Amino acid sequence: MSSREASQAPLEFGGPLGAMAMLILLPATMFHLLLAARSGPARLLALPAYLPGLEELWSPRALLLLVTWLGLQVALYLLPARKVAEGLELKDKSRLRYPINGFQALVLTALLVGLAVSVGLLPLGALPGMLLPLAFATTLTSFIFSLLLYAKALVAPASALAPGGNSGNFVYDFFRGRELNPRLGSFDFKYFCELRPGLIGWVLINLALLIQEAELRGSPSLAMWLVNGFQLFYVGDALWYEESVLTTMDIIHDGFGFMLVFGDLAWVPFTYSLQAQFLLYHPQPLELPMALLICFIKATGYYIFRKANSQKNTFRKNPSDPSVAGLETIPTATGKQLLVSGWWGMVRHPNYLGDLIMALAWSLPCGLSHLLPYFYVLYFTALLVHREARDEHQCLRKYGRAWQEYCKRVPYRIIPYVY
Ligand code: NDP
Repeated sequence: MSSREASQAPLEFGGPLGAMAMLILLPATMFHLLLAARSGPARLLALPAYLPGLEELWSPRALLLLVTWLGLQVALYLLPARKVAEGLELKDKSRLRYPINGFQALVLTALLVGLAVSVGLLPLGALPGMLLPLAFATTLTSFIFSLLLYAKALVAPASALAPGGNSGNFVYDFFRGRELNPRLGSFDFKYFCELRPGLIGWVLINLALLIQEAELRGSPSLAMWLVNGFQLFYVGDALWYEESVLTTMDIIHDGFGFMLVFGDLAWVPFTYSLQAQFLLYHPQPLELPMALLICFIKATGYYIFRKANSQKNTFRKNPSDPSVAGLETIPTATGKQLLVSGWWGMVRHPNYLGDLIMALAWSLPCGLSHLLPYFYVLYFTALLVHREARDEHQCLRKYGRAWQEYCKRVPYRIIPYVY
């Protein structure tokens, strides 16, 4: 098949119409959440009381801040890495190499931001007031960047295209991403965006919200501390185990188009910081016993999430590693094996279960008076249920009978005895 021929891969996300709807709905939802969090009633399911004008959305200062931020993260990505890891084998049998220095980027960003704040160069407390124009600049940048990626993919060889982003329909391919691993030299755009500017930006926004709360009320609330601590821990963990991203669906299956570009650069920092945004405008009392209970829920979720992900990563890298060698497995026709005991024998996606429990722990500090801070739990449940279905579909295609056998042996998908 030449690179110009459309692939016959089944269309996901409702095809071109679904993709068109997402191109509008994702940014619209993000702006709705940003506006709702600062509004008095903070209602998730009501239209915003007003729509901001262009003068509120467009700010050259915000664009400059975004460009500086992206430039800083690119510079940190290019610094020498403690390790260079190889990705999974590609269609043409080659393997790409990736610098493992995301955690280093997080620490250096913290040091640089701390320095800039202490010498008065960066008034971090002013950042919450710039969220709308920053989100607008990031959305515009995501559209332009995705167009450039689409154009680049037009001249890419067929072997470089993603299985699902080459349908021949512009809207669908623009959304899904045509090229699997677009690069400029050794700079990998998808890998760079996946865990750095958005994830580190998210915790920076959280910190700015905490600082502004301290400026407003004398000190940050316990709820704000918990939200900041939990989410910083999540981001730190993702960057500490950065290498595991190389075996995720985003890297091995999905092309790099608007879906991931917008998701990584805009959706994550501006909607995942929703709980902290909500708390700044709607302070919530939190007693110590409740805070301890929430910490316990977070720790339980993290334990399941980390153990399950590490068990599969270790098994995929080296099935004879002593920590996984004793687990029961099913052979598949591809030569790979499937775990049927340990975490992956409990449900077919134990890592999703842990992630969902953690999502709940991030929202609980916001109390029960509003649905808005629970948006993340609702959205994430929908995302993981859909993602699980996509993964099942791909695994059935890859492993056939062996996958059916696995589903028979491990009948529940995410929650034992429930789903
Ligand atoms: P997974 O890490 O769950 O990987 C799925 C793959 O694992 C399958 O395609 C298959 O690939 C392999 N696999 C499945 N079952 C078995 C088994 N029994 N034995 C061995 N291998 C198996 O996929 P994701 O990329 O969806 O998730 C990665 C992490 O990222 C999760 O913890 C998820 O919660 C998190 N996540 C977080 C998001 C966020 O916004 N916070 C968004 C999306 C994900 P193969 O056999 O080819 O190796």
